[in-house]
Parts: sequence; C-alpha cells; structure tokens
Amino acid sequence: MREFFARFRRWKMRRVLAKYAIPLDLWKTVTDKIPLLSGLDPVEMAHLRALSAWFLAKKTIHGAQGFEVTPEMKVVIAAQACLLILHLGTDYFEGWVGVTVYPGAFRVKHEEQDEFGLVHQGFENRSGESWLKGPVILSWEDVRLDSREILEGRNVVLHEFAHKLDGMDGSMNGVPPLHSGMERRAWHDAFVGAYEALCREVDSGGFSSIDPYATTSPAEFFAVVTEYFFTAPAVLEQRFPEVFGQLALFYLGRSGYSNFLERDWRHFQSLA
Ligand SMILES: [Zn+2]
Repeated sequence: MREFFARFRRWKMRRVLAKYAIPLDLWKTVTDKIPLLSGLDPVEMAHLRALSAWFLAKKTIHGAQGFEVTPEMKVVIAAQACLLILHLGTDYFEGWVGVTVYPGAFRVKHEEQDEFGLVHQGFENRSGESWLKGPVILSWEDVRLDSREILEGRNVVLHEFAHKLDGMDGSMNGVPPLHSGMERRAWHDAFVGAYEALCREVDSGGFSSIDPYATTSPAEFFAVVTEYFFTAPAVLEQRFPEVFGQLALFYLGRSGYSNFLERDWRHFQSLA
C-alpha cells in the first residue's frame, strides 16, 4: 500500500511538473543571482527547480498594499523556501497555501508583558511572519536584500518557512516532525542544551555568537539556527556542534557536511 501511495505521489508530481514547469531561462536568470544556491550541483538544482514548480503550483503568492509580485519574485521566494525541503520532500510543506508579500517591512500590533505583569500594546516593524496553518508574510525589500548575498545567520525566507516545518505537527515549539533515522531524544538534548546556553550568554550581557533573537523562544531558536545552518554553517558548527549535527540529519539526511555546505564552509574560511 505504501508503495502504491509513493507511486501515486510521483505520478501527481510529474503531472504538476508537466503543467507548471518553470521556464529554464526564468529559472536560470533568477537563481544565478542567488549566491545561497551556488553550491548546489546540477542534480540538486534540477530537483530544486522541480520542487519550486510544485511550490508555485500549490501555493498562492500575492502582494499586499497593491504590490505587484512578478514571476521573478515568485521564483526568488520559491527557490529559497524549497532549499529547506530539498531532502525532505513536498509533504513537509503541506497544510497551508498562502504567501503574502509586502513591498517593505510591515507594521503589526504587538503586545508585551513587562516585569510587573502589565501588558503594553504597540506597533512593531516586521520583515516576515509565519502563521500556524496560515500564511507566510514577507517583506519583499528584506527578501531582496537577503537573497543577493550570503549574510551570516540572516535570510528571511529560510526563517519564515522553517517555522512552517516546525508547525507541521500542529505546534510551533522548535521541534519539526523528525524523519526516520532521527531520535527525538538526541534532538531534544541538543536543542535544549544550546537554547539554555545561548539564553545564559545573552542574559550575561556578553558577546553572543548567534543572533540573540534566537533566545525569544524555542521556535525562534529553531528558525534562527536554520538560517545559520544554510548561510554560515561553520559558525553554527563551532558554537553548537550538536545542533549542527541534528540539522544536518534533518535537512540533508546525513551527518556532517554535504558538498553544498562544504562550499559555504570554504567561503567563510576564505573570509576569516
Ligand atoms: Zn520567527
């Protein structure tokens, strides 16, 4: 029966691809300008193009405030989002459909409780947001800036869609559904230990090697270390080797570096 469903899924995927394939010139023009994808080999790139076509066929991407989302912009978003599921498959992006794109940072109502228990309301600028079972919201200006170079620990598309993986099982708690061959205990130990260590580091006021925003919650920690995993793997590996190891198992299905990350590693070595 499982084999039947696997065959059915492959057939459905082929049908989507035949109908919605991303034209090669559009794909090349866009992805050639995204350094984050430069380490992928031709087979991985072809796979990413297929996943991105599936993404664009299944998800609705629309602009807010009259913003027009061009086909190029859609590919910029799809290609980076699908980098997360390159080895996970499309099942990991099921259960939601919408992506809303604002021209720039957008204002959201924000509530915060102070140390005396008083709730303060205000507005806050955001570059992205991800709703459980709901839409992903992105600021195009941030997507554009994060896509044109590899920034250490910063990529709004990776961040927001990592929340989608996390929320797949119904709660955004920093633990996405792990695939076979992974142990929940090992994930838990690696992530809890690292999260607590980073919180202590930030509380003590010292220099934090990982963006302190990661200490907001375990869910934000997972999204932020995902950004590091793809943009600055060496930094993450050095600071939290166990977390790096678990993310390699999760995102790449292997321990250690893939060719793709290997190139990033050299990129950072050469900067050091
Ligand atoms: Zn977040």
